[in-house]
Amino acid sequence: SLSIGIVGLPNVGKSTLFNALTKNDALAANYPFATIEPNVGVVGVPDARLAKLAEIFGSAKILPATVDFVDIAGIVRGASTGEGLGNKFLANIRESDAICQVIRAFEDADVTHVDGDVEPSRDIETINTELILADLQTLEKAVPRLEKDAKRNAKDKNAQELLKAARSAQEVLDEGVSLSQAKDIDLDRLRELSLLTVKPFIYVFNLDSDELADEALRTKLQELVSPAEAIFLDAKIEAELAELEEDEAQELLESLGQTESGLAQLARVGFSTLGLQTYLTAGPKEARAWTIKQGDTAPEAAGVIHTDFQRGFIKAEVVSYDDLVEAGDMQSARSAGKVRIEGKDYVMADGDVVEFRFNV
Ligand code: GDP
Repeated sequence: SLSIGIVGLPNVGKSTLFNALTKNDALAANYPFATIEPNVGVVGVPDARLAKLAEIFGSAKILPATVDFVDIAGIVRGASTGEGLGNKFLANIRESDAICQVIRAFEDADVTHVDGDVEPSRDIETINTELILADLQTLEKAVPRLEKDAKRNAKDKNAQELLKAARSAQEVLDEGVSLSQAKDIDLDRLRELSLLTVKPFIYVFNLDSDELADEALRTKLQELVSPAEAIFLDAKIEAELAELEEDEAQELLESLGQTESGLAQLARVGFSTLGLQTYLTAGPKEARAWTIKQGDTAPEAAGVIHTDFQRGFIKAEVVSYDDLVEAGDMQSARSAGKVRIEGKDYVMADGDVVEFRFNV
């Protein structure tokens, strides 16, 4: 499933946020790995459609799509050049699909800031610079090897293209630009190097609860990271929310003028940033959302449940969520001609409610 690594300066609220993530008891019960891995936090992607499906199908359980938060990397200015700190700490982050940077926007005299005062734009710059330097280091180590490969295999087009892409990446990074913003570089070729600034970025501003509703401040902070979507939360409140029952949590949020918890925002934005979507399955046992890429076909979607489903795919019985809800149940949707039989070329739509037929 989708994995996100958390980075940020010290004392910005990373651990507080991460602890809130890992305290997700309801999910931990259904996704046992959430409790096995101490450095993984699993967050369910809120999806109101699942409750409705559970009602229609009489499902005993609801299983939302999930996002894994894999690790925390504290980064300080100079981390990439310092004694092993940078690269060692970034090991798990390298494997993640996206990077989430936590930025301190709260003022608190009792919590020191490594650079003296609270200044979100400077902190964003510091982290960006360190990630760029870490990538430059990775490339510096890799390029001599790639050069040797390219020379030895003069006819191997892949080796030549890989070296070319690596050199272009060095040039871009030397200008202080993240690779995700680079044009004309074949970033796919560089995948094996696990570069950091290739990954999509999600920005989380950690505010105090009285600042959360300050629209002018939010606009100002959003502008620092546009076109990326910013998330605004209070890490301490998130920790409290994680301890509350759902209705109490909703009440607390509303009292702060919020409609959605920070963790829910994080899961949602993570999904959209990575071009993911969900399809749904439902039955007496469970109503469940499955993560796929936008553009995935029916067999690819089936493969997310089990590789055998993809291999033995015959057809899919599909009804859109809206049609199903309008009809009231499967039987009525069928009589209304809303349930389609789709073949292997069908491209899935968000909110398709599906049953797969397959050979085993
Ligand atoms: P990390 O070093 O980034 O992991 O930061 P921590 O999560 O350990 O937080 C550092 C300190 O800041 C702790 O004392 C937290 O309680 C405090 N803190 C975290 N988030 C907030 C916040 O939103 N507001 C305030 N006032 N303090 C916070």
